[in-house]
Amino acid sequence: MSYRNGQRLPLEGGGALRLSVNPRARRLSIRIDARAGEAVAVAPSERRLGEVVAFARTKAGWIAERLAARLDAQPFEPGAVVTWLGRTVRLEASGGAGAARLIDTPEGPVLRSGGEGEAFSRRIENWFRRAARDFLTERTLVHLKTLGQAPVKVSIVDTRSRWGSCSPHNRSIRYSWRVVMAPPAVADYLAAHEVAHLVHADHSPAYWSVVTRLIGDHRPHRRWLREHGASLHAVDG
Ligand SMILES: [Zn+2]
Repeated sequence: MSYRNGQRLPLEGGGALRLSVNPRARRLSIRIDARAGEAVAVAPSERRLGEVVAFARTKAGWIAERLAARLDAQPFEPGAVVTWLGRTVRLEASGGAGAARLIDTPEGPVLRSGGEGEAFSRRIENWFRRAARDFLTERTLVHLKTLGQAPVKVSIVDTRSRWGSCSPHNRSIRYSWRVVMAPPAVADYLAAHEVAHLVHADHSPAYWSVVTRLIGDHRPHRRWLREHGASLHAVDG
């Protein structure tokens, strides 16, 4: 049986698998596209799609779980409770049109924003993006300094399939703002992960020893991102 780029296959346990050819992919992989609500199987060539489809079938349980977790996440609307660097924050409408502000109340932190509907959720997202920029820029600088590395350009993006990426050649690092919904140690691990790629572009044992030097044992953080990735990505602005 032959497969083609862009084809969609039904998955046992619900959901769909979209086939994608990316000549730059170095290996077969499966990711969750939270916005589309489907799994994506990536292979470096059309010829290898069969292999990644077979691989996806062995992962059907995992995929169904991730797609279901996606639905549990709350949208940004007044009354919703979200997490920011491990803290629980309640969203509240202020009326009016002001930007989102974090306020400490006796009941805990509240993120209060103007706007209604889409406008409300956009303002909350903007607040998260700024919070992500502040936190990740600072942690990036700390890790660069530890490794004696020159500054890099840090961008905050909204990639759904990856938490971050590093281009050692352009000396630029991109982070998904959504990682600040994770505990701070996990977001810090992401910064260490990307900075360590300036030293090693691969995921070799030498690379992981650089990560360990920066933050110690990285395994719990990797596990956290694997287990919560889909639900974090499902929070919809
Ligand atoms: Zn990496």
